[in-house]
Amino acid sequence: MEKREQLYEGKAKKVFATDIPELIIVSYKDDATAFDGKKRGTITGKGIINNRMTNYLMRKLEELGIPTHYVKELNERETVVKKVHIIPLEVIVRNISAGHFASRYGVEEGIIFEEPVVEYSYKNDELHDPLLNEDHAIALKLTTKEELGIIRDFALRINNALKAILLEAGVTLVDFKLEFGKTPDGTIVLADEISPDTCRFWDSKSGEKLDKDRFRRDLGNVEGAYAEMSRRLLGS
Ligand code: 5GP
Repeated sequence: MEKREQLYEGKAKKVFATDIPELIIVSYKDDATAFDGKKRGTITGKGIINNRMTNYLMRKLEELGIPTHYVKELNERETVVKKVHIIPLEVIVRNISAGHFASRYGVEEGIIFEEPVVEYSYKNDELHDPLLNEDHAIALKLTTKEELGIIRDFALRINNALKAILLEAGVTLVDFKLEFGKTPDGTIVLADEISPDTCRFWDSKSGEKLDKDRFRRDLGNVEGAYAEMSRRLLGS
């Protein structure tokens, strides 16, 4: 397979065409942004960790019957994935109050929910990714009712799987964001990434934050947190 022209450059990844129309290559960068792009920086080595961790977790999810866009890891920063139509929804699953849940509803961080909370935002930079409910998503024709049912079911199954994998690594899964895509034959697959950029990870014993909140909140030792997550999940 040949790498061809760059199709797109996002905040954390570049996307390249290949000589196979159904496949593209994602290349993970060390660039970090937060607060709608207002805060920018570099987290050295992040691209390598996010690429490897996403692929490791997507392979695990595939084993559990959850379809993903993952095809093949090419090198430490680059992976071949299926070309999909990204459904413009950010699907957030929360197990514990944190971040925007805590600020929006005026509660402290760290409240453990009895049931996971599934939340959606409209992936739209101009509108700053507004929160929406299932009726809004259907009215806006972002997806269909049937697809949304599948997405919600996958999101909850992914939550159970990730919680178990992370628990073994001494990490509590607080919340995370997923994106789904549709292949040309209409199959819904998990796309994007699963990494410390897109999840909140707290050390199970100390509660120490091991994710991008260290960057967002200037907590220091950002690279150290990513490296620690890599050691715990990937062994190096
Ligand atoms: P919150 O809504 O509290 O900011 O985020 C909830 C969870 O989803 C966190 O784990 C956060 O990392 C993830 N998340 C939500 N929106 C985004 C986003 O635009 N980019 C990234 N990388 N993660 C997000």
